[in-house]
This record gives sequence, structure tokens and C-alpha cells, in this order.
Amino acid sequence: MKPAFFCVRIKKMLEFKVTKKSKRSQARLGFLKTKHGVVETPCLVPVATQAVVKTLTAKEVKESKSQILICNTYHLHLKPGEGIIKSAGGLHQFMNWSGALMTDSGGFQVFSLGFGRDFGVGKILKEKMGKDKISLGQQPSLLKITQDGVYFRSFIDGRQIFLGPKESIKIQEKLGADIIFAFDECTSPMANYQYTKKSLEKTHRWAKECLVLKSRSDQSLFGIVQGGRFKDLRIKSARFLSSLDFDGFGIGGEFGDDKKKMMTMLNWVVKELPQEKPRHLLGIGYPEDIPQIIKRGADLFDCNVPTHYARRGVAFVSNGRLNIGQAKFLKDKNPLDKKCSCFVCQNYKRNYLCHLIRAKEITGLKLLTCHNLYFFHSLVEKIKKDIKNNKI
Ligand SMILES: [Zn+2]
Repeated sequence: MKPAFFCVRIKKMLEFKVTKKSKRSQARLGFLKTKHGVVETPCLVPVATQAVVKTLTAKEVKESKSQILICNTYHLHLKPGEGIIKSAGGLHQFMNWSGALMTDSGGFQVFSLGFGRDFGVGKILKEKMGKDKISLGQQPSLLKITQDGVYFRSFIDGRQIFLGPKESIKIQEKLGADIIFAFDECTSPMANYQYTKKSLEKTHRWAKECLVLKSRSDQSLFGIVQGGRFKDLRIKSARFLSSLDFDGFGIGGEFGDDKKKMMTMLNWVVKELPQEKPRHLLGIGYPEDIPQIIKRGADLFDCNVPTHYARRGVAFVSNGRLNIGQAKFLKDKNPLDKKCSCFVCQNYKRNYLCHLIRAKEITGLKLLTCHNLYFFHSLVEKIKKDIKNNKI
């Protein structure tokens, strides 16, 4: 018989405990204890790419019910540079955020600035664009992927930058987040089997190197499962990484809008990963995806949708989305969402928010960001209740 919950002390700085496991799915409740506070899981991790959740202060981020943020290693390396952040006392102090922090490894940029850009797909790949368009030996036009790492051109001044496992770990150690990720190649869904297989071998080699290279004992290191859309590669990756001494696991890869494939991939991977360690799904999408990925066993997941859409004038509400800048909302005296208890919905009406967006006032973007984050976190809380009550 399986135990009702698992408890493990992961090194000194990270403790993860599963407090309830659903009988109906892979969903589970738990908490992650870091040096900067406890994160209750499942948990949405808002994106603070440049050491800021765009438009918000740290206090406002906290008030939106955020527990942990993820910053971007590649962007912070370019601007302002990890040396500046280290001398400011590390990321937490630099950005005045007392909660837990993660940094990604820079591996996603290998995709987004590489084949993602070449094929103009980024996060919105259409299935019809075709598979197997990238084969073994092929290189993206703007960067060069070698056995040791990736050569980028800085988008700021054009200078050449090299990122490999060593550079990524070194930068992340200087930044000082609680959880850091091993350097990987995030493969495109358009890559064929041979390309993905070779890329995975490299990612696994880099994962081992990152474990050896890591020198700070107050940070936790997560390995990243890759393997594209191929079942045998995904299983191989999950098993291989599970055999190594990682504190938790990221599940990476790009699926564009092929949600079905992403969910299938999660089914393959989650059963191979150790139950007692946390799993982080890297970069997910919309409110409707959240229950699905939690049911499949994701404990953490980062998502830029609430903040990104807010800055484009979109509010997420109980019955869908509102393009709040549309003129019809100028006469609407309702809050964004009657069921939402965020401070925006308690204090502002759609008419005023509509005016702010139309007048291109920064405060409008800030208020929508606050609401969207609160709305997404509330959605996760509702799912947590459902897990507790054995509904999912
Ligand atoms: Zn609200």
C-alpha cells in the first residue's frame, strides 16, 4: 500500500511535503519550504522576466496572492548583468521581494531566439505548420548550438554571448534565487526524431554537468525533462533525470497550441518522476489549462498569460475574457468580475478601467495586472479545495 503522504528533507534549503494525494487523478496538495517562505502547491508562478512583474511593486505582487516568482537568466545576464545584482545583495534584495524566487536556465531562449523565431511560431505554433521541419545538424539562423552550449547575439548591442551549463549555473548562483534550473535545449515541436534524440543526449550531459558545477548549498537545483513529442524520449529523459540528485524537476519543451500533446506528454512523464520531489511545468497558457495540468500532477507552473494579457487590455473573468478597452464598457458600472474579491474589483468599475485603457494610462495596465494575477491564483485555490474534497 502506498503511504498517504510523502515527506522528504531535500538538502538543507528545500523541503517538499505532499499533504494530500487525489484518489481520482495525479493531483496533489503540498508545500515547498524555502529559505524565503513556504509555497503552497499547486502554485502558479508569475513571470518576473527582468526582476519585476511588469507594472507592479513587490507589495502589489504579494497582495495578488503570489507566493513565488520566476526571473529570466538570459535577460538579467544582458541587463543589468549578474554582477550588479550580486553586489546589490542578490535578486531578493535587488527587487525588494521577500518571497521565494526561481530563475530559469536560459534554455528556453535557445528555442525562442532560435528555431522558434526562424519559423515565426514562438508560443503560438499552429499544428498545421508541420512536423519534422527541423532535422539533425540543422542550425537556427540567429544562434549556434554546439555540444558545449549556445552562442547568442545580444539584442542590445549585437555582441556575442555564450551560454552553456557552466555559464548558466554561474549566473544563476550570482543572481541567488531559491530554485535554479539546469541548462537545457528546449526543442521545437517541429524537430524530427533524430534531432530531438541528439538534443536530449546533450541536455542530459549538461544536466549532469550542472549538478557537479553547482557550488552554493543554499540554492536548489531542478533538472529539466525534455524529449519533444516523442514518448520513448520523454520517458527516457524522466527516468534518467530521476536517477540523478536533483531537488526537483522542470518539465520543458514547446508544444505551441497543441494542448492535447502537452497533456499526453505530462501523463508519460509524471509517472516516471519520483513522488517525493516537486515538479514544475515550464511555461503554460490559459485558465482552462490549469485544472488539466494539476490533474496530471504538476505542483508548480509558470505562466505569463495573466500579466501579458493585462498589458494588452484583457481582463480574465469568471465567464471568459473582457477586452476592457472596447467603447461599450465606458457605460458599464459593474466591477470587472462580481465574484472576484481583489482590490480592483472592490474599488473600481469597468467604466473607469475602460477609460484608463483607452487613454493609455499606465494605472489601467497596473490594475488589470493586479486583477488578472488575483483571478488566476483564486482559480488555483478553487482547484486546491476540489483536491481536498476529493472532487478531482
Ligand atoms: Zn478582481
